[in-house]
Amino acid sequence: MRKILDILNKLFLNPVAPLHFSTPFELLIATILSAQCTDERVNKVTPALFEAANTPEKIIKLGDKKLIEYIRSTGFYNSKAKSIMGCAEAILEIFDGKVPETLEELQKLPGVGRKTASVVLIHAFGIPAFPVDRHVLRVANRLGLAHAKTPDETDEQLRKAIPEKLWIRSHLQLVFHGRGLCRPKPKCEICPLLPHCSEGQKRVK
Ligand code: SF4
Repeated sequence: MRKILDILNKLFLNPVAPLHFSTPFELLIATILSAQCTDERVNKVTPALFEAANTPEKIIKLGDKKLIEYIRSTGFYNSKAKSIMGCAEAILEIFDGKVPETLEELQKLPGVGRKTASVVLIHAFGIPAFPVDRHVLRVANRLGLAHAKTPDETDEQLRKAIPEKLWIRSHLQLVFHGRGLCRPKPKCEICPLLPHCSEGQKRVK
């Protein structure tokens, strides 16, 4: 594991959060919008949306119809609008207008699962967590850092395998490697991790 993390450190020296935001609530919205959508697309949509409404009160005032106009190009806009509206209402009613800072409380918000809650924790509050998206699921299991079929199992195994102080950085590095060489159809023959990756070695035989 140490060798794998060392190589990832060389490949992605200072990985930064790909979604643009300036408050925890903005990050929560951006993360909901990023489901089944690229971060680039979300980052194109959010400046205008946040200019119009970047607090729970303003989102509610904006209303579903206008919200959908802003987020339409991210896809699945009806369910995303429902989640965003539901989050705005719940944050005002249950959490005194503030985005909660624990995994358990965040997951009480409509449409917010473990991955979204973990993303908000690490990037908005700097609280260690290990969000597992499809890239992390794929790459961590190929590399043998986890041996799991589901995101939740992978999350649990990665948090046990990797020291807590490295979770945020390692999460981003696995995401970026999954978007680069270790795509669903991986480029193992040019991957610097090949000597430490049994899946890659099976593939290049
Ligand atoms: Fe992914 Fe192949 Fe690299 Fe292993 S060797 S991490 S499977 S690209």
